[in-house]
Amino acid sequence: MLSQLNNLRVHNDRFDDALREAFQRVLESGWFALGPEVEAFESEFADYCGAPHCIGVANGTDALELAIRGLGIGRGDEVITAANAGMYSTTAILASGATPGYADIQPNTLTLCPQDAAARIGPATRAIVVTHLFGRLADVDSLRALADRHGLAMIEDCAQAHGAERAGRRAGSWGDAAAFSFYPTKNLGALGDGGAVLTRDPAIAEKVRQLRQYGWESKYVSSVAGGRNSRLDELQAALLRAKLPKLDALNEERRTTAFALASAVSHPGITKPDVEGKDFVAHLFVVQTERRANLQEHLRAQDIASDIHYPVLDYQQTSVAHALETPHLEVSERLVSRILTIPCYPELSAQDIARLAETTANWDPQ
Ligand SMILES: *Cc1c(COP(=O)(O)O)cnc(C)c1O
Repeated sequence: MLSQLNNLRVHNDRFDDALREAFQRVLESGWFALGPEVEAFESEFADYCGAPHCIGVANGTDALELAIRGLGIGRGDEVITAANAGMYSTTAILASGATPGYADIQPNTLTLCPQDAAARIGPATRAIVVTHLFGRLADVDSLRALADRHGLAMIEDCAQAHGAERAGRRAGSWGDAAAFSFYPTKNLGALGDGGAVLTRDPAIAEKVRQLRQYGWESKYVSSVAGGRNSRLDELQAALLRAKLPKLDALNEERRTTAFALASAVSHPGITKPDVEGKDFVAHLFVVQTERRANLQEHLRAQDIASDIHYPVLDYQQTSVAHALETPHLEVSERLVSRILTIPCYPELSAQDIARLAETTANWDPQ
């Protein structure tokens, strides 16, 4: 179905029995937030990603914020991030009390450029947030080396890259901490909100565990400042446990779909994304074109959905622009008006792909 960028109804139908069984189990357990399902999911997801500690939280933005706070970063500190990733890292950095600083992206991966990030490190810089955008792992080895060279913490935003792997390691295993979202449209999606923080460091894990529940060290005894309520609930954890064993197969389907799309779509005015490699889990299929509004209108006329991820750079958002220094990021600023997301999800049929190919081939941008 091309009239939407996702079809969650059809997607979740594929897990119907397992989801109903999970729902039944939680209903009958009488336990609904931070219980045995959350603990089991935390342990299964940590194993899957290859990091020793996982802490379930309420959503992906909280996961980012609690990861930043868990690393001891806050007021007076600067955190460098990309500006093209939908405001999530900016929101979390500001919520932690720190200040975002922006670095440019690589034109091929659309993720943080290690050289540009290096040039923007200043005396207040304490960390970098690396977003694996659209399902593509960023240049994590260079960014990890950069962070180590300058004594910075590295936080991975893996909300679009569950299961992406490089050299036998998965997204979330390079950072001092990593944040995941399980929003329903993500590669691993709940039936509501959910998130998780991953880390190798037991002290950071413990601090995030306390921060997610009022700063408690034990029930009703709060010893960590900045605590709040960001619990993952039992139902979402149970539903995620039902889907996690299928994540690799689903990512493989996404890659196959993206590969088929990349082979089928051909137009001189459309630049396609790189779809090669297991470090790409095809969260979104983002093309580039000079005549974006025209292409979007052409697709709309054929009832084909498209969207822009994301239409406004973080430092140009009116909610924050007045409070931030405005950098000049050449690549980010050039690409923000060229990017367009077209449908690419596991349940897309061969006919859908053929129709997308035909519709784009017939596009006359004049
Ligand atoms: C979805 C997303 C988030 C935020 O997750 P929520 O669960 O919606 O708070 C963070 N970062 C990226 C890159 C995302 O795509």
